[in-house]
Order: sequence, then C-alpha cells, then structure tokens
Amino acid sequence: MTAKTDMPSDFIRDIVAEDVRTGKYERIQTRFPPEPNGYLHIGHAKSICLNFGIAHEFGGICNVRMDDTNPTKEETEYVNSIMADVRWLISGWADKNIGGAPLYASDYFDRFYEYAVDLVRKCKAYVDDMSREQTDEYRRIGKESPFRNRPVEENLDLLGRMKAGEFADNTHTLRAKIDMNAPNVWLRDPVLYRIRHASHHRTGDKWCIYPMYDWAHTLSDYIEGITHSVCTLEFEVHRPLYDWILDALELPEPRPHQYEFARLNLTYSVMSKRKLIQLVNDKLVNGWDDPRMLTISGLRRRGMTASALRAFAYNIGITKYPSMTDIALLEHTVRNEFNRTATRRLAVLRPIKVELTNYPEDQVEELDAVNNPEDANAGTRKIPFSRELFIERDDFMETPPSKYVRLRPGGEVRLKYAYIIKCDEVIKDNAGKVTELRCSVDLESKSGGATSNRKVKGTIHWVSAAHAVDAEVRLYDRLFTVPEPDSASAASSGATGSAADFKSFINLHSLEVVTAKCEPSLAIAQPEERYQFERLGYFALDLDSTSEKQVWNRTITLKDTWAKEAKKEVRQPAGAIRQASYPAAETR
Ligand code: ATP
Ligand code: MG
Repeated sequence: MTAKTDMPSDFIRDIVAEDVRTGKYERIQTRFPPEPNGYLHIGHAKSICLNFGIAHEFGGICNVRMDDTNPTKEETEYVNSIMADVRWLISGWADKNIGGAPLYASDYFDRFYEYAVDLVRKCKAYVDDMSREQTDEYRRIGKESPFRNRPVEENLDLLGRMKAGEFADNTHTLRAKIDMNAPNVWLRDPVLYRIRHASHHRTGDKWCIYPMYDWAHTLSDYIEGITHSVCTLEFEVHRPLYDWILDALELPEPRPHQYEFARLNLTYSVMSKRKLIQLVNDKLVNGWDDPRMLTISGLRRRGMTASALRAFAYNIGITKYPSMTDIALLEHTVRNEFNRTATRRLAVLRPIKVELTNYPEDQVEELDAVNNPEDANAGTRKIPFSRELFIERDDFMETPPSKYVRLRPGGEVRLKYAYIIKCDEVIKDNAGKVTELRCSVDLESKSGGATSNRKVKGTIHWVSAAHAVDAEVRLYDRLFTVPEPDSASAASSGATGSAADFKSFINLHSLEVVTAKCEPSLAIAQPEERYQFERLGYFALDLDSTSEKQVWNRTITLKDTWAKEAKKEVRQPAGAIRQASYPAAETR
C-alpha cells in the first residue's frame, strides 16, 4: 500500500500516512456517517471530500453509513437524497473507494445489544430508573444515581425487560458506569440506551430501546473495521468515551481511532439541517434543492459542478481551528473553473429592441463567434445577424454619467462579433419609457471590413430578434442579507431582548425571474454543459422544470457584485436589498 504523491496534506492525512508507513492497519477504512434527518449541505461536502479523499489517496474504502438511531426523525427520502448527493460528488473521482450500498447503524442493533449485555456482565453498565431530567441534573453536579450499584443479575433482568417492552418511554435507561466526578461530563455515566416506543424506518417495531450516539457510533466503527474515524471538533469531548467503550468491551485490535477537524462555516448562510428544514417547511425557499440553498442538491441544481465543489473543499483545507469561510471563496472557485470550461453564448436578459435602419430588410448574415477564448479547441459557431436585434436595456442610457461607454443618443458602440452601431433615435411610449432604438450600422466595421479596426469604447452583446429563442432565466442572489445570519440574530436579541430569528435576514430579492432572448444555438443546449452568457454570468439548464420554455439557472455572476458592499462595512438591516451592479461593457 503506497500513498499517491500529488495529494493534499493536512494533519489528518499526516496521521494516516504515518499509520500506512508503520503498517498499523491492513487497509485504510474511513466512513461518512450522516444522520438521515435532512438533506446534505456544503459542510457535509467538506466531510465527504475528506473521508473519500483519504480512502482515494491511500487505496482504501469509505463507507457511507446512515446514523439512523433516532426512530422519530428519520425518513427514507433522506437516505435516498444522501446517496444521490454522495454519488454525484465523488463521481469520476473516488467511485472506486465507496464501500457499495449504504450501510445502516440499525443493521447492527442486535450486535449493539449483545455488546450491552456484555458490558453489564463486566459490571460496567447499569439500568437506571431515574427520569431524564434527574439524570441530567445528577450528571451536571456529579452525583451518583441510587441505582448505580445494582447487582449484575438485576441489571441483566431489567435490560431484558426494557428490550421486551415492559416499560414506558423515559422510565429506564442503560448507563455506562464510568466516573461521576470526571471533569469531562461525557464520562459521567453517559446514557447508552433509552426507551422509545416508536417505529423505525428500517427495523419497524422490532425495537423499543434505541442506542445513543456514542454507543452506536463507536461500535459501528468497530464492526465495520474503520481505521480513522474522522469527525468535527464538537466530538472532541466524546473521544474519551469512544476509547472507553472500546477498552471496556476489551475489543481486540485493530481498533478505530477518532480524529477531529474544524467544521465548515460559510458567510451568508446557515449550516445546520435543523435550520435548513425550517426554510423548507416555512416555504421561504422552494424545497431542499432550491438553488439558493447551500445543500448539495441545491448547489447541483444551481449548476455547480462536483469538481468545483471538490476544488473548494481542497482550497479551504483541513484544520483544527474553528473559522468562518467567506462565501466569496466558493464563488471564486466556481468562476475559476467555469472561466476555463464554460461555452460562451449570447443572451439578453432584459431586452430592448434595436432597429438598424440602413441594414437591408431581408438580409441575414451568419457571423463567426468564438466558443471559448480560454480553449483553443472549442472552435467557433455561426450566429445570425439581421436588421432587428435585442440588446440589454441597461446597455443604453439616455442621459448617462460621464464614464458610461455603452450606447447613448448619438453615441456609438460595437456589437460583439459584429458591427459598430450608432444610436440615431429613441422611441418612447406614452409613459416616457424607452421602447425601441433606431440605429445606423457602420457597414464596413465588421471583421474584414475597411473600418474593422476602428476603435469605439464599449462592446455589448446582442441577439437577432427574428432568430432569438425565449427562455425563462432565474437569477439567484445570496439567500441572506448579512454575513452571519446566526450571530446577527444573536446580536440583535442582545439589543432588543427578543431573539431576531435568522430567517428575518432572508434576502427578499434572492430570486428574480426574467424572460430572456437567447441566440438560436442555445435551443440545443446540453444540461451537463456549463454556459457563459457573455457579460452576464454562468448559467446551467434546469432539468426539473415543468415550464414549456427552457429554464436557465444563473449559477454565478461574472464578477463579485458583493465585494463593493463588503468594503463599505455596513451591516444591512433585515430584508435590505442589494442591487447587483451590472458588469461594465468590455472596452476594446
Ligand atoms: P447538522 O448540524 O447540519 O445537522 P450534523 O453534524 O448533525 O450536521 P450529520 O448527519 O450527523 O450532521 O453529519 C454527518 C457528518 O458530516 C459528520 O461526520 C459531521 O461531523 C459532518 N459535518 C456536518 N456538518 C459539517 C460541517 N459544517 N463541516 C464539516 N463537516 C460536517
Ligand atoms: Mg447530527
């Protein structure tokens, strides 16, 4: 077993590499253990990339294991979405390292129980009759339960009767017998089993006692032969319990070891399933895969690629220190990839008509346009040009500021891949709104013409009106108006005395839907391909649409329109609108 050379490095991989070097384990085995009580989010993506990354780099296997020990919150829908998300994220990268079908902690319930009986026999666990509140209180103050020193036989009898369903919920628990004075509260006789008369999504009514996290998790790792059990920092205090369980049961080597890293926190987002589910249930978003959600399914639907997400996980690295990652880093990673890979196309999001008064009425020219200036092999395509065009409404201003380089009355601009035009006349409706522009073309200014090199300051995009394809385009912006919706709510609760919920910082303008005019070649656009609508951003087809028209999702704008806002360092009030500034025309 040798490690690959071009791999990322961090303190966890260093440990794995050392274990590989010393031959501590026969094969590296990691796991990703989600609780199926919601959809996966981008924080989980970090964990998936780490666990599968280690398996991939060290020739091991990564199991996906459903931590399905809580019968009341878990659903099959979540299991399916989790598997779809994991497979998508590792596809083409670490497919070989997945252990096959998902594993379930619930498949080990029988073995967990046998281990519990063993622990009781070893005098290291007891049945407690105290209520949950009492147990919590005793653990807090470090006081022993009056039931702590029950004889083994009585404990075995009670545990068997707990399992057989003789007792009501919350009347008894099985507790580890460790140390009620331990400085680490987790070692103060933690609960291993509780009674829940509830149907489980896989085991049905077979069980009415369910294992607690630490018991189930440690033993699942052991049963599966996990070598490196990697989790987030909040589990650091659980590690002594993890080791205690393995020791107390005298489980033979090789044993798993737990290592902790800092979870991903991203600005302008909330990152817990408990909060994400509120957004879904309160209909603040359109489901778990709403493209504004930082769920894996939402990001995928928005047009994010698995490779970009993996590059992001790689860029943020793995550390032991809690931190907040700027969402701009995610956006930067996506732009970086798409700039290299996306196919360029012309589309007009907010069209205004232009008539070229000196261009022959029935003439249609097929002009050459570059598919991807970053990729010499991407070639060119033909785009039709005719007398009637659409340009972007924002690319014309009647009384522009001095630095404006786009179209103005009497001014000139170059149409990308085509001619220079001059605005001669502005047509308005009764309300004074501009409805059409009449322009003249410099017929010698296109490629190969006598004035093709004539310089004008601005270049804008366009589509031929007669050939344009209508499409619904969904323009997404960040879902929250403040960098830290959670601490913003905490801060305001301090000021006012009542907690402002993270939901009060929802960006009410995070979705705008427009009908765009697209160049005809977009009619055969491919869902798996990424497109740059020139000067506008990166877009992907939405598959789930019931609309007759094509539906496009804007994955990301071309530039970081929020960077300017960030510089101002002003906290926006709840619901504040940030108007995305329009990217300036290219200058030639
Ligand atoms: P949430 O708080 O969103 O419910 P969780 O930790 O309860 O998250 P699990 O389904 O238990 O969710 O997590 C599965 C795995 O993903 C765990 O190993 C957990 O440590 C890891 N994980 C969860 N959130 C993050 C995050 N923000 N960054 C990195 N890893 C994470
Ligand atoms: Mg959890």
